[in-house]
Amino acid sequence: MSVIYQRVALIGLGLIAGSMAHAMRRRGDLVGEIVGTARSSETRDIARDIGLCDRIVDSAAEAVSGADLVVLAVPVGAMAAVAAEIAPHLEAGATVTDVGSVKREVVEAIGPHLPDNVHFVPGHPLAGTEHSGPRSGFAELFDNRYTLLTPVEGTPPEATDRLKNLWTGCGAIVEEMDPDHHDLVLAVTSHTPHLIAYTMVGVADDLRRVTDSEVIKYSAAGFRDFTRIAASDPTMWRDVFLSNKEATLEILGRFTEELFALQRAIRTGDGDHLHAYFTRTRGIRRGIIEAGQDTDAPNFGRGGVTKEPVE
Ligand code: NAP
Repeated sequence: MSVIYQRVALIGLGLIAGSMAHAMRRRGDLVGEIVGTARSSETRDIARDIGLCDRIVDSAAEAVSGADLVVLAVPVGAMAAVAAEIAPHLEAGATVTDVGSVKREVVEAIGPHLPDNVHFVPGHPLAGTEHSGPRSGFAELFDNRYTLLTPVEGTPPEATDRLKNLWTGCGAIVEEMDPDHHDLVLAVTSHTPHLIAYTMVGVADDLRRVTDSEVIKYSAAGFRDFTRIAASDPTMWRDVFLSNKEATLEILGRFTEELFALQRAIRTGDGDHLHAYFTRTRGIRRGIIEAGQDTDAPNFGRGGVTKEPVE
């Protein structure tokens, strides 16, 4: 079988690009060459030391030269500047994609910079961990997890299908989605839960000062899960909230209303309300397990596993 892309340029060499490099190499026959670059010489040096790509180059312009696939894997807030930097150096007929966690703003940030002779297929792998940087990637990250592609108007279906084949080769299940719908869905399933985790850990940290570290010492599973999510990269998540503002505020509004209803049920001793609510949410957990997106093992199958997906 011939390779899907002759040369893939990875711009940014953190968790997601690193995992893509490992996943592409695991199959061996997906791509010809992987060229990578990152903003800092420190990251590029680490990537060279660990042999993350076939070649590490010092600039994004150099990386995209001769590439038939360019993957932007930098924080959402940096996409526009990187797109402007690479635009004059892109090959005619190349596909440009990204892995940003927000789609509408990223489409609008990258699209205007791209020349007409390249194809733009934005994407988002729904897989991640709380770790970041060039050493954090691993080949299995995308296995059986969804990657959503949000092709823009005018993208030829062949360009989208080709990228789909690459993601499938990396282990992912691929679907297409409208960018605005993507942002609303992710506000529910990822962005707002992260904000709640950040808040809960912040509250506990305030309390820790009162209880002299008992909150840390006796932290139960629920709190530990929050701390793992709240350990996610601050730059990435700052950018996610600033760029998926509307959908996050909409979901946060609904969340606050529900929270008040539960607060009232507790205050008034309305056990029926609480029981019915928790029964409904337990059903959602069952649905996720049946869909193969998590394990039914006790304590979420954890048992010392450190590479837990969080996104
Ligand atoms: P990461 O591990 O922190 O790596 C980010 C990379 O981007 C690094 O190579 C960094 O370079 C580079 N970078 C940072 N700021 C930059 C800037 N201003 N200009 C140019 N390059 C810059 O991040 P990641 O987790 O792989 O996330 C990358 C993208 O994937 C983000 O858009 C994020 O929304 C998305 N995503 C993340 C997850 C997740 O759970 N982590 C899941 C799905 C999608 P240096 O190392 O040289 O600073």
